[in-house]
Amino acid sequence: MANKITPQPGILDIAVYKGGQSHLDGVSDVLKLSSNENPAGPGEKARAAFVRVADQLHRYPSTDHGALRAAIAEMHDLDADRIICGVGSDEILAFLCQAYAGPGDEVLYTEHGFGMYRIYASSVGATPVEVGETDRRIDVDKLLAACTARTRLVFIANPANPTGTMIDRAAMARLADGLPEQAILVLDGAYAEFADGYDGGAALVEARENVVMTRTFSKLYGLGGLRVGWGYGPHEIIDVLNRIKGPFNLSSPALETALAAVKDVAHVEKCRSDNARMREWLRSALAKHGVASDPSYANFILAEFGSKSEAEACDDFLKTQGIIVRRVAGYKLPRFLRITVGDEAGCRRVAHAIGKFKEGAK
Ligand SMILES: *Cc1c(COP(=O)(O)O)cnc(C)c1O
Repeated sequence: MANKITPQPGILDIAVYKGGQSHLDGVSDVLKLSSNENPAGPGEKARAAFVRVADQLHRYPSTDHGALRAAIAEMHDLDADRIICGVGSDEILAFLCQAYAGPGDEVLYTEHGFGMYRIYASSVGATPVEVGETDRRIDVDKLLAACTARTRLVFIANPANPTGTMIDRAAMARLADGLPEQAILVLDGAYAEFADGYDGGAALVEARENVVMTRTFSKLYGLGGLRVGWGYGPHEIIDVLNRIKGPFNLSSPALETALAAVKDVAHVEKCRSDNARMREWLRSALAKHGVASDPSYANFILAEFGSKSEAEACDDFLKTQGIIVRRVAGYKLPRFLRITVGDEAGCRRVAHAIGKFKEGAK
């Protein structure tokens, strides 16, 4: 059959996203520190809600997610009418591309930015534009200089993944103020809760017409497997996104479990403080073994090695010890490994193994 069946422009440019590895052949006690998952998982209340929904699985779920939006709004002091829930925050990023970018449009993201920005931009035929960073930090001047009359979306994660670095409030505001008038600033707040005192950009959303914030239940809330995220933005933009959202995008287990999770403040606070404590512990333990890292504002550390081959050798060694971390050469960081902050035992185990690797290398 002659090939007249072809996908839309841009689709074949997409390299399929690779998630963090989760298995090692022949190893039973695997420590997975490759996908920034919460080592504690969801709290008891969320687990109980998930089990309870089993009795209601013949019912279609809510289409407007009213109860979950109300709970999120209460928790974060936001306007529930301007929240939209999605299948992970990924879906909100996809909606933004579908709604606001197409062939001829440019979608900006940064040098070490999250891989999905490029994928979603390409999937709608828009042109992904990668903008340089400075010392693994988002550079507002470079982003503003890269804007053109065709720029429609600017994606930044704050704190960023895989670097763990952050830009401050003033820098975010300067970016929002300096964008061309047809462009939206998307603040991906997947790790916002891990940064002490940071609102994820909510205040900036309130103060501007051109800023959208995305958040997720996948990281701090320990619900990566459930797939729930949300976005917050101006009325006009959220209205547009709601028009393209499938009516039943979130399942009832997803809605009920996320609702219980958001209300379980005690569990969330414990996870947040455990992460902060172990993050600092891991950073200084690695430093003692001669492995530096930038201060991280997220739930992972970007460990720096002397060369690409050293980073790879360390990764290979960790695998022999049953530990999976993330190579980030695909994010233009070949000398680095990204290591999720695990529980105390996990942090000790990975630090010990890296120490052993460094000793062996001497
Ligand atoms: C994990 C992550 C997400 C969130 O993904 P979900 O679809 O909500 O699971 C978004 N952005 C970044 C930068 C991430 O690392």
